[in-house]
Amino acid sequence: MGKFKTLLKDIPLLLMPKRCPFCYKAIEQNETICKRCEKDIPVHSVFQGVKGGYRCSSAFLYKGKFKRAVLNFKFRHKKQYSPQLAFFLKKSIEQNYSDMVFDYITFVPMHPKRLKRRGYNHSELLAYDLSRLMNIPCVPTLNKIKHTKYQHDLNAKLRSTNLKGAFKLIDKKTVNGRSILLIDDIITTGSTLGECAKTLQKAKPSQICCATVLASGNLY
Ligand SMILES: [Zn+2]
Repeated sequence: MGKFKTLLKDIPLLLMPKRCPFCYKAIEQNETICKRCEKDIPVHSVFQGVKGGYRCSSAFLYKGKFKRAVLNFKFRHKKQYSPQLAFFLKKSIEQNYSDMVFDYITFVPMHPKRLKRRGYNHSELLAYDLSRLMNIPCVPTLNKIKHTKYQHDLNAKLRSTNLKGAFKLIDKKTVNGRSILLIDDIITTGSTLGECAKTLQKAKPSQICCATVLASGNLY
């Protein structure tokens, strides 16, 4: 889609009131979510291991209004909710990685073909909004070089073979010796984040930590 068309599509968004990403109720400009949904925010976020020995911090479990909000953000062009979802991503990162210092935030890339079809990479939007909120630079570090099948259509074994060799480092020097925070929207089996982390590892970063908005809660 051309830039002008994308801009035209975004104009109605500017005229619409800000809404709660979880129930779509209109909220004030200085609010992140509505008061009712605020009561449903879990006190503790999710923290678990990812294949390859990495850790992943997630704001919410993959269910109810949280699941619906992320799926709408990802598949139904509700990209205006990215800063609000990033707010909760930040909260979970502060909870689970309180002792960590990150040099860079980066994100799971999308293959150019899929990016063209969808118009935006939801993980990239989240990463850049998180970068603004946390005051940590966001840099693209990986390219997706293999146009793979949708992970959610595959079983756990196929998920990991589907992604083999799917990512490529953009520039080793950016990652070398750095502490990296890798962002995606959802962690299910951990295959995608695991493969991205494995690819980043080739550049010998000092550490890689993962964070997502949602966690399915059954990684293995
Ligand atoms: Zn709400």
